[in-house]
Amino acid sequence: MARAQKLRLKRTYLGVATHVGGTLIVLSYFAAGLLDLRHLLHYLVGITLICGAFVALILSNLNLRLRDPSMTAAQVIMTMWPATYVMYFVTLPQGRTPFMLMGVVGVLFGVFALNLRRMLMVCAVVFMTYTGVVLAVLRTAPERVDVRVETVSASAFAVVLVLITYIGSYMASLRRTVRDRNARLQETNSRLEQAMDELRELATRDHLTRLPNRRSALERLSQLTAGPAQVPVPARVCVALLDIDHFKRVNDLYGHHVGDLVLRNVSRALQDALQPEEFVGRYGGEEFLLILSAASGAEVQAAAGRIRAALAEVRAEGLPEAHRLTASIGVTFYWPGENLEATLERTDRALYRAKQEGRNCAVLDEGAVSALPEGQMALA
Ligand code: GH3
Ligand code: MG
Ligand code: MG
Repeated sequence: MARAQKLRLKRTYLGVATHVGGTLIVLSYFAAGLLDLRHLLHYLVGITLICGAFVALILSNLNLRLRDPSMTAAQVIMTMWPATYVMYFVTLPQGRTPFMLMGVVGVLFGVFALNLRRMLMVCAVVFMTYTGVVLAVLRTAPERVDVRVETVSASAFAVVLVLITYIGSYMASLRRTVRDRNARLQETNSRLEQAMDELRELATRDHLTRLPNRRSALERLSQLTAGPAQVPVPARVCVALLDIDHFKRVNDLYGHHVGDLVLRNVSRALQDALQPEEFVGRYGGEEFLLILSAASGAEVQAAAGRIRAALAEVRAEGLPEAHRLTASIGVTFYWPGENLEATLERTDRALYRAKQEGRNCAVLDEGAVSALPEGQMALA
């Protein structure tokens, strides 16, 4: 059942509960000898049928065809009919007063669902029903009506109904204001969350290539090498710095915007060339930091070959077909317990050597290789 229907049903059940209270009042009339059994039974059948009809309308969704599916005004007015009927037959004039209280409860029921105009209309119907019954009794059994008392009572009833309507509509407007403010607050919250996401994105991603930026690349590296953690740490973490060869020429020859495009395409190519557990971030300019799953010199060379082959395939609009991109790669292994700066320094040194050895190649820092017995090279 839709949420709105559930709410309507709940409100209708609340109405039924108030009519159970009304029925107790009517039963007390009977018990006090102010009402005979026949009229009591008529009341019981009437109120049961009317309440049952409203519940059935909602359960069968037939109420959705109505202009006001919550049927509030109809519920307030129609459920008053059985009580009005009883009121007509109550023998003592003073016995009619409690019906005004029941009318007030009925009107209160509509306060939060109806606007001021409709509420005033409902009040008018309730008031006219009440005075109509009194006038009817006055015609058929004038001895049961004290006109002066009835006039004062009816006037008081009218005033109370109007007051309730105004106070109720004021409360309803307060409730609406709170609800609107809550909605606005929620909207602001979600905008704030969105802004936070964007900020996080800005702080961790490189704007041009959408790759993790230097800061988050270093963070990733330090997480990976943080020692015993919940996530198993590889015995050796393979760190590489890749620098595109003669990239300045791309800018100089074809323009900075082509250089930008090339950087973007290189980033995508690197991501595609890596295995799922490997990582690439933009370290700065045309340099990329890679975390590879290679665990030996041979595996490093295989990975470097894969990466260089992928780079050679990179094309970009404005970059001549014949222009082949190459890169120099410096690689090392992280030594458990060592300072990451030392690891990066070795990687940098290896990259420098790759450049010196003529570019378009990968150099593995020898210190790392010689220090590692073959058995230790496997990933944990
Ligand atoms: P090497 O082989 O020695 O690395 O030569 P290189 O030309 O690649 O190196 P160099 O450090 O002399 O030049 C790097 C160039 O990368 C210079 C700079 O303009 C360019 N660059 C850095 N960041 C960007 C960028 O975001 N967009 C563009 N288009 N160019 C960039
Ligand atoms: Mg460079
Ligand atoms: Mg370069």
